[in-house]
Amino acid sequence: MLNWKHARTVIQLPLLAIAALIVLDGFIGPSNAPDNFAGVLPWVHWRGFVVLALLVFGNLFCMGCPFMLVRRPAKRWLPARWNWPAWIPGKWLAIALLIVFFWSYEAFDLWASPWWTAWVAVGYFGAAFAVDGLFKGAAFCKHLCPIGQFHFVNSMASPFEVKVREYTTCQSCTTKDCIAGRHDPATGRLVQSGCELYLFQQRKAGNLDCTFCLDCIQACPHDNVGIIARNPLDEFRRDANRSGIGKLSERLDYALLALVLVFGSLLNAFGMVGPVFRFERWLAGVLGLESEPAVLALVFIAGLVVMPAGLVVCAGWTSHLLTRSTRPLLPLISRFSFGLVPLGFAMWVAHYGFHFFTGALTVVPVTQAFLLDIGIDLLGEPRRELAALLSQSMIDMIELIVLQLGLLATLAATYVISRDTFGRPRALRGALPWAVLALLIFIAANWLMAQPMEMRGTFLS
Ligand code: SF4
Ligand code: SF4
Repeated sequence: MLNWKHARTVIQLPLLAIAALIVLDGFIGPSNAPDNFAGVLPWVHWRGFVVLALLVFGNLFCMGCPFMLVRRPAKRWLPARWNWPAWIPGKWLAIALLIVFFWSYEAFDLWASPWWTAWVAVGYFGAAFAVDGLFKGAAFCKHLCPIGQFHFVNSMASPFEVKVREYTTCQSCTTKDCIAGRHDPATGRLVQSGCELYLFQQRKAGNLDCTFCLDCIQACPHDNVGIIARNPLDEFRRDANRSGIGKLSERLDYALLALVLVFGSLLNAFGMVGPVFRFERWLAGVLGLESEPAVLALVFIAGLVVMPAGLVVCAGWTSHLLTRSTRPLLPLISRFSFGLVPLGFAMWVAHYGFHFFTGALTVVPVTQAFLLDIGIDLLGEPRRELAALLSQSMIDMIELIVLQLGLLATLAATYVISRDTFGRPRALRGALPWAVLALLIFIAANWLMAQPMEMRGTFLS
């Protein structure tokens, strides 16, 4: 099925229809978020499905991304011939956009404004069209999209990967269509793109930067690429020279992106619990600030950049001392930072899973209200008492189990990285400071999830 050239489009079209519904209701529907598709579907359902898909499969939502449907016309109508500017390499711009997105989500209560949510969706379509229409390859996915970066990093913990079945087949392959694209032998015309994120299957390792777009699967003339089950710990085992990325120990931008997402998982949940409001008031008083966005900007810069940098430098330096390593410190910190990804991902699953399981049924009254608004009395009056899919005790138990599994996975990943970096005899000593940092994050995550949280996207409070 994945070899069928319309396979991705079939997955994208339903999501495009949902995006259109969100934009329509966001612009003309009720302003109360729990009454509007734009206040419910993206913030309760989509985020819940994203983390569940990453947990049990992989980057399914990049595969089905409706924003990418505008790429084809963009590449046809616009020149699409510039190289991405060398002065904004790698992930630096994406990191800045991700921080701006996390900040604006809290500062302007995006989740509570269907109108702003609709504008974000429209902005996304426009940005994907303009960027991919001007630049070569999948520049928007690789260098800009904050949602894509979330998927790329967290899919390091996923159980499936797009990869080759037999490396020997690649060695004897002369065309390398998975990267070069497949051309019509008669006309020389490109009939199937190769990987536009510049991941060459023969040297691709792991899920980073892979949108599961299926291009390589459909381009390979030997049916040698598939979506294949794997042990997620393989992501951390060797500091391989990954195609399109290089060695993770040498990619400070990727490491910072991973840290922003790990600590962002805590900060994003922190924005929804009671103590944050007291903390904000205290900080505003101390600094003499009256603007909430300004106070939040300081909180986000401290929580997503300054504090993570301080903590990982401490962990890396202690690891360095304990192992008496002579290696440079920065590559060591970069590599170990990725070991924290499974725990950060577990926190995203616990948090977004909480909103999903407490609000999934809200889609029923929203659909009823929408149909009544457009004059179709098919499903009756909105049943606003519907919200939770599971009981609170069940949700609490799931959160606890997910966080514990995340801690275990991070401890295993950290040990694997340490063994590969320092050798088996010094592996435990090298991993110890990172295990302590993971434990601190785990305690913070449990404390946050134990706080009463705002019931965003539902009528509950
Ligand atoms: S994945 Fe397919 S096209 Fe790419 S090198 Fe291997 S055999 Fe050739
Ligand atoms: S073409 Fe590239 S991005 Fe798409 S699935 Fe293959 S490796 Fe991943």
